[in-house]
Amino acid sequence: MKYKETVVRTKNADETENFGYEFAAELNKGSVIALCGPLGAGKTTFVRGIAKRLTPECASLVHSPTFTVVNEYRGSSGCIYHFDFYRLKSEDDLYSCGFDDYFDENGIIIVEWADMFLKSLPGSTIVVNIEKEGEDGRKLTVRVPE
Ligand code: ADP
Ligand code: MG
Repeated sequence: MKYKETVVRTKNADETENFGYEFAAELNKGSVIALCGPLGAGKTTFVRGIAKRLTPECASLVHSPTFTVVNEYRGSSGCIYHFDFYRLKSEDDLYSCGFDDYFDENGIIIVEWADMFLKSLPGSTIVVNIEKEGEDGRKLTVRVPE
């Protein structure tokens, strides 16, 4: 599949959050974003930046939904469904947590730990891969399908 790739390097958490804020300007209702990268990469930090633009009244609520599978941020101008697939083991788990239902909701879907499930996500999914470069450096690679 053809996609447009953008690489951004950040030097600290604020820069990653700010990049999430800029990135969010490109999103539409129904966008699906897959975040890949290890623990501590900055996936949740990036989501906080997205929330600051799209659901600012909920930005302070953003945290990894590791124990709930999904957090919902309902702002006055939109809604973010923030998933974490860390504890899911198979595609069956994806269906049993009701993931499919969220595609009807007109909100934006963001998935942390999407690595194992990329094939189960829509072809239009924007993939953001975050790699650590030293203690505070991060390389973010954004792939937008065309
Ligand atoms: P994840 O959700 O991928 O596990 P978090 O966003 O929860 O990661 O945590 C990232 C951690 O790394 C935070 O403690 C943050 O302060 C730290 N950090 C250091 N440098 C960066 C950077 N360049 N971008 C994002 N986070 C960074
Ligand atoms: Mg996280």
